[in-house]
Amino acid sequence: MHLVPAVFLALALSGAIQAATLRVLVITGQTDLPYHDWRETAPFLRRVLEDTGRFEVKLLEEPRGLTAATLDPYDVLVLNYNGPRWGGESERAVEAFVRGGKGMIAVHGVSYGRFFGMEFRDGRWVASSTGDSGWAAYAEMLGASWKPENIGHSVRHVFPVKWVDPNHPIARGLEPTFLANDELYHKLDLRPNARVIASAYSDPAMKGTGKDEPQIWTVNFGEGRVVHMTLGHDLAAMYQPGFVTAFVRGTEWAATGEVTIGPVSAAVRGPDKDAVRLLVVTGAHSYPLSFYTLFEGRRDIRWEHATSTTEAFRPKMAERYDVVLLHDMHQQIGEAERENLRAFIESGKGIVSVHHAIASYPDWRWWREEVLGGFYFIKPADGHRASEYKEGVDFVVKPVPAMARHPVLRGVPPLPIHDEVYRHMWHSEKITVLMEADHPLNDRPAVYLGPHAKSRVIYIQPGHSDSTMRHPGFRRLVHNAILWAARRLD
Ligand SMILES: [Zn+2]
Ligand SMILES: [Zn+2]
Repeated sequence: MHLVPAVFLALALSGAIQAATLRVLVITGQTDLPYHDWRETAPFLRRVLEDTGRFEVKLLEEPRGLTAATLDPYDVLVLNYNGPRWGGESERAVEAFVRGGKGMIAVHGVSYGRFFGMEFRDGRWVASSTGDSGWAAYAEMLGASWKPENIGHSVRHVFPVKWVDPNHPIARGLEPTFLANDELYHKLDLRPNARVIASAYSDPAMKGTGKDEPQIWTVNFGEGRVVHMTLGHDLAAMYQPGFVTAFVRGTEWAATGEVTIGPVSAAVRGPDKDAVRLLVVTGAHSYPLSFYTLFEGRRDIRWEHATSTTEAFRPKMAERYDVVLLHDMHQQIGEAERENLRAFIESGKGIVSVHHAIASYPDWRWWREEVLGGFYFIKPADGHRASEYKEGVDFVVKPVPAMARHPVLRGVPPLPIHDEVYRHMWHSEKITVLMEADHPLNDRPAVYLGPHAKSRVIYIQPGHSDSTMRHPGFRRLVHNAILWAARRLD
């Protein structure tokens, strides 16, 4: 049976009966062990769940104080926790949550000793010295416990995990095995209520037991469902596609008793199919590398990079790109490149010009007068004096009140920045100023729309410093500008 990836499934569902979003609480935070770094793994587990489109996920880093009321809105708990016990009320609340018909999926080191009445002393697990006998229902809920002397695993290695119950909903339709990159837990005592659905051969050459050891099992606890995965030692272990697929399907099953999510990848999803196609042009001027982070990792932008005008402005650009973002400062541009860029603009495609790109192509009048509507003169020309700059100035660029409702300014606050000021620039009467600077060394227009009738053109003056590139308000402005130039924002 062929299963569709989750992303297509989500689209398919939206056309028919939309499956309700499942609410997930990841219980995490705290470990005094030198491994099982929840700060890395908890956000990863959250992302892979949310990427399926099936779950809404919250993280809880302080489980002490959990109550029945806190847990009530959730369908399923993810246990990714290695810290101290939570105390009677919180533990009873979790127990009642699952027993009452909801779900839990427990990952990797949660089977270590504390909830079983042990403590970690001199590098090993031993019976608690405080007389703590543990959380009585925990082993029953997890379907397993460990004698202190048995706690352990093979050395970390890459090994196949086999679905030994291929008809269980979590396994159904998947390849018969998947690869784990993990510690291979062994010598766990499974309870009679555990149903093993995946196991792995524990190789004596890797300090294993020479036996098949259970890796994933399910438990019916009261009216609820529990999944236990021994896998998931660290981020690299979780990055395995087999882990992610088992984890998201296991979470869905624990929540509902059914599985609709197909195999998924751990990789960060790339841009959407209909993302804006952006060409970013640099060259002839340096810039902080954080500039690239303005485009990378966004689902609605797919970007390419060119570092010369000949590489950037080729024939039929309009077929390949929706927007060209200029952060170059080339002083020369050939006839053919002008023609290609002009055709792109005349076809109605968009232009975003950032910072020093306002000084590009000085002998191309049409460009500055009909497209950008502004210009920085490196040297005097056409009766205009040279413009001036100063680096490292603190100033504020703020929305023009009358333009506050323009889509490019949506969510853009005033920007106090440490950047470069420009003054004595040329500005066309035909520009529409969206943001202005209030500083004696800077001309007032700082963000404006160019005059071209067919193309959406916008110039953004800030963009010199690393701190500007990382400013959330600036990032929002550039993102809005790209979407607006592509006619995706109105
Ligand atoms: Zn581990
Ligand atoms: Zn600069």
